[in-house]
Amino acid sequence: MNDSINLKKYIREIPDFPKPGILFRDITPLLAEPTVFQEVINRLTAYYQDKKITAVLAAEARGFIFAAPLALALRARFIPIRKPGKLPFETKAFHYELEYGTDSLEMHTDSIHSDDRVLIVDDLLATGGTISACIELANHSQAEVVSCAFLIELSFLKGREKMNGCDVFSLIQYD
Ligand code: IMP
Repeated sequence: MNDSINLKKYIREIPDFPKPGILFRDITPLLAEPTVFQEVINRLTAYYQDKKITAVLAAEARGFIFAAPLALALRARFIPIRKPGKLPFETKAFHYELEYGTDSLEMHTDSIHSDDRVLIVDDLLATGGTISACIELANHSQAEVVSCAFLIELSFLKGREKMNGCDVFSLIQYD
């Protein structure tokens, strides 16, 4: 690991995207620096390598960016969670509330097992709605959700309070 790398420096702030009043945290400058992207994976790997993770779950699309290399580093299975109609095999779905309306996510029915130790990964924790849906999907299979990992946590939105005491690990926080 290289503690001298300041990850926050590689997050670009875009005002009024995707709507007026929202300050969007853009991770693409970080992804464009291989040593910094690698450092993110190294720091996540260091935190999780002794936690006996067997499956890494992530919701499309930005969660995949970090979950796939982390799964390889941890020698765990990578399991994609997708928007409805995208996965070809038998699926289970979870429907969840958004600020306006509802959304749903799907996972293959054979992807996690009751003896799995699951890590859920996303690029950013905001209100916690997306990650709570992923936790619900994992809980359907009676698997243990060991932790949820994020590159960025918008701490002021208190998303971690929605996560029923599940361990949360983030590399960058905005208070
Ligand atoms: P939540 O469900 O409210 O916690 O929102 C988290 C989801 O919204 C994540 O999957 C993020 O990819 C996305 N998201 C929300 N705000 C931002 C942002 O500022 N930058 C990048 N992604 C965001």
